[in-house]
Amino acid sequence: MDELLALLHTPSAADRELVRKAYTFAYEAHRTHTRFSGEPYFNHLFATARALAELDMDAVTVAAGLLHDSVEDVGVTRETIAREFGDEVLFLVDGVTKLGELKYRGTSRHIESLRRLFVATSKDLRVLMIKLMDRLHNMQTLEHVPPEKRERIAKETLSIYAPLADRLGMGEVKRELEDLAFQHVYPEEYRAMSALLKESARMKEPLLETVKQELRQALVKYGVQSFRMESRIKGLYSLRMKLQRKGGDIEKIYDMLAVRVILATVEDCYRALGIVHMLWRPLPGKIKDYIAFQKPNGYRSIHTTVMTPKAGPVEVQLRTETMHREAQYGFASHLSYKETGSTPDRSEKKSNRIWYHYLIPSLLRTPSTPNSHTQTTPPPLWVSELASAHAGGASEASEAFMREIQDDFFSHRIFVFTPKGDVIDLPMDSSPIDFAYAVHSEIGDHIAGARVNGKLMSLDTQLQNGDIVEIETKTSARPSAKWLEHVKTTLARRHIQQRTTKRTAEGAS
Ligand code: MN
Repeated sequence: MDELLALLHTPSAADRELVRKAYTFAYEAHRTHTRFSGEPYFNHLFATARALAELDMDAVTVAAGLLHDSVEDVGVTRETIAREFGDEVLFLVDGVTKLGELKYRGTSRHIESLRRLFVATSKDLRVLMIKLMDRLHNMQTLEHVPPEKRERIAKETLSIYAPLADRLGMGEVKRELEDLAFQHVYPEEYRAMSALLKESARMKEPLLETVKQELRQALVKYGVQSFRMESRIKGLYSLRMKLQRKGGDIEKIYDMLAVRVILATVEDCYRALGIVHMLWRPLPGKIKDYIAFQKPNGYRSIHTTVMTPKAGPVEVQLRTETMHREAQYGFASHLSYKETGSTPDRSEKKSNRIWYHYLIPSLLRTPSTPNSHTQTTPPPLWVSELASAHAGGASEASEAFMREIQDDFFSHRIFVFTPKGDVIDLPMDSSPIDFAYAVHSEIGDHIAGARVNGKLMSLDTQLQNGDIVEIETKTSARPSAKWLEHVKTTLARRHIQQRTTKRTAEGAS
């Protein structure tokens, strides 16, 4: 417990008490509960909470991390959680429980909708963070899970959780989730990639050391005072994806090993870029200034690939300490006060909450494409507006504004499943008719009946979030003009109008 309390950042007495209480409660509640490995279940709860504390999440989130499986797995009532820990902890635990009910069911067509569903369901980024840390620990211990379950969990991790971590700018978490899942989803490819990377590292690492040595001397010579260097080895899964994009040609991958220089200031980054290019000729088209144009997920660094006589093409990455932290922990790094050294007061804590709410709608926008290297989209206006709201302490008005954006999305969409598990994203109050047309116009045109969650229902039923909808079709069935009263989507409306007017015209002739 002391380990966990020590990780809390500037906790108040109440914060410490909350975490202490959650720790004891979770320990007792899961006392007889074990994991597949046979170890106490509490180890999982502790690992989740510790990871959250390491990300500087607040005490409420850490406490919810300890309690995240207590409602679902050991039958603790929601009332007990609310009474003992308050509504905010209950809200987070509830959110995590709801996310647990959404499962990837093996189809890749609607992955993007499923990701959106995850985000929409979590409503608060802290819920997503708990779920991510929960998943990270489950992935770290996946070898104990029965093989048939293992593959589903690993696939779900690759298609849902790793991209979400990426969208949150959490490079470290993304990479770890991907590489842990990779070995279970594509074991043979995983072995091949490991061998490839190992061989390349063995060959290139000593050469890279001389490159680093030369660069170090040059930086000092030209007056860059304070910096540190590290080698970065590419993640195995990201190597696999890049290799696929490059048509399997390993010679075209220049960043398997990269030199990373972490500098004191932005000016130093640009000065270092000049020095790097003075030493070695850069490869055309390989200079990427993500400081001037940050990636959509907030990533900032300068990348350049240079031709070195000793080690061939080498990627050099330049960034400040702050950028380095952001690249690892993403949005969570914005919640930390360690760098400024100031203590969070109430208004800062409040504006944190706005960050969570604010980022949710941003996650629901178009995701970054796998090859986002070429994107240089500046942050949209609302991001800078948020940044200023954040800096100046949040006003009531900006908080209301955030709520509006969020409500707008949540109150107008629902997500329902096909029997196979595809997610269909529909406007609120949609009917099985809308659903049928969203799946395929042929299905819409031949609806004979609809089952919602296994029960036969009328076609004007208003669908709810999470419903599983099955449409029965008959070749002789035709759309009826009456259906127009029960549809919300223009797609369905257009088809029905087309079909019914055509028939009337035919009947008249
Ligand atoms: Mn869990």
